[in-house]
Amino acid sequence: MKRGVLKEKETVRVREIIGLLRTHYPQSRTALEFRSPFEILVATILAAQCTDERVNKVTPGLFRKYPTPAHFARADRAELEQDIRSTGFFRNKAKSIIGASMMLVEEYGGTVPDSMEKLVTLPGVARKTANIVLSAGFGKAEGIAVDTHARRLSQRLGLSRETDPDKIERDLLAIVPRTDWLDFNSMLVDHGRALCQARKPKCPECFLRTICPSATVFFQELKNR
Ligand code: SF4
Repeated sequence: MKRGVLKEKETVRVREIIGLLRTHYPQSRTALEFRSPFEILVATILAAQCTDERVNKVTPGLFRKYPTPAHFARADRAELEQDIRSTGFFRNKAKSIIGASMMLVEEYGGTVPDSMEKLVTLPGVARKTANIVLSAGFGKAEGIAVDTHARRLSQRLGLSRETDPDKIERDLLAIVPRTDWLDFNSMLVDHGRALCQARKPKCPECFLRTICPSATVFFQELKNR
């Protein structure tokens, strides 16, 4: 089949996937709780290798104790580590939060910048975190966050063959319409939690099974069990 025809078929399939995701997850948004771009930045740093539920238990008290970037910037590192200990990887996270807060205070007047270019200059902030801050905090889409759910589902749905999150994002940006970038990640996260779970995807119940190239593989595995 010619390259142009293949691309057209793929575009139709991607639009169908997005349409079905929208139908099933109409209110899709991050499960992290926040009241400002700065809070979603800190919450997203804390959410690495941790559940959103756990982060949501920690952040209310954390933001009462450290309400602004200036408070985090002058925090005692050992004390902050204990404050966020339950989210795991607390030493690295405390270092990132303090480093990012110091830069916000020194370079950005204590406010979170609303561009990818500036966000990724903050310590501990890579494209994934920046994408989440931009979409959730500012309603802006300069890319698509590729976290563990987006990575797994992009591969299973045949949207990317890559394993590196930056390369997966590049593939997604080429096929997902720009108007869908804003909530594409959160819809994949919702679907990853509801049906397309890492260990046992529920393909027989999945509304994407007729257009998902992985469905037959998992159906076969289920039969062989
Ligand atoms: S059919 Fe299975 S592998 Fe494909 S998206 Fe649905 S749950 Fe995931």
